[in-house]
Amino acid sequence: MGGIGFRRWLLGGAAGVLLAAVLGSTALAGSPEGMRLYVFTSHYLGPFPKAALQTGAGSEPITIPVAFFVIKHPKGNVMFDTGVNDKIIKDPNYWGVLFNVYHPDQKPDLAIKAQLQKIGMTTSDINYVVLGHMHLDHAGNVGLFPKATVVFQTDEIRAAFWPPPGAASSYIASDFAMLRAPIGASLPNAQKVIQLNGDLDLFGDGSVYVHRAVGHTPGSEMLVVRLPHTGTVVLTSDACYLKENLDKDILPSIGLVYSPSDMLEGYAWIKRVRDSEKGDVIFAHDPDTFKAHKHAPEYYD
Ligand SMILES: [Zn+2]
Repeated sequence: MGGIGFRRWLLGGAAGVLLAAVLGSTALAGSPEGMRLYVFTSHYLGPFPKAALQTGAGSEPITIPVAFFVIKHPKGNVMFDTGVNDKIIKDPNYWGVLFNVYHPDQKPDLAIKAQLQKIGMTTSDINYVVLGHMHLDHAGNVGLFPKATVVFQTDEIRAAFWPPPGAASSYIASDFAMLRAPIGASLPNAQKVIQLNGDLDLFGDGSVYVHRAVGHTPGSEMLVVRLPHTGTVVLTSDACYLKENLDKDILPSIGLVYSPSDMLEGYAWIKRVRDSEKGDVIFAHDPDTFKAHKHAPEYYD
């Protein structure tokens, strides 16, 4: 009796291990009821030449959203990316020369606090901020969340404070200087951080999964959200700019690629997750796919 039970356990265990090996990080989630995904945009950018985001696109102009996301989960509220620093509303000089390259709009109703109000939240309701990377249109407002735990890759914060040659203009150190407080410090106001060298299953149930995806920058990361009803959604940040780039394996202009081969591997990873889990993909900057999705206060659950 005990032997059979043990054998069953052993077989079940072996099958479980096998299943886990096959599925890898995509093990089916125990996504809890009550989860929600909200889609927002920070200050739109453009018009500027589409060729910046897609090699060979020519001088055709493009205007793009700057998507950021809030995920409600019973164990905490998560923000993925934080948009363009709201200082831009009153101070175009905050972006220096890039203001006249990307033309961020300056609408006050796109400020983070105004937008969180739409879903009944304030910045202090956000428990985790995950940064896809630290460029000026993604880490811009991370300083609005001093009580949150900020999740990023070690390689990204190194690059952000000491950018590789040619990559300096997209990082504004004052956006994220507060992250440089000593890790684990007992300072009462030290920002809590989780500094990664790889992936992280944030709540241990597979429903909010951070995936390291070097390519666009030295420490980019994507977020996979597995919702109980909608299913899997991959949030790319800038690991891929446009759906057409993904479909046709087109890279952006070289100034926006730290490692071309790694960026293409990132595309392949997005497609693997999308196809194996019949999931959806939301890019930070694709105007058409952004338009096709529901925006806060509507949500996915
Ligand atoms: Zn971006």
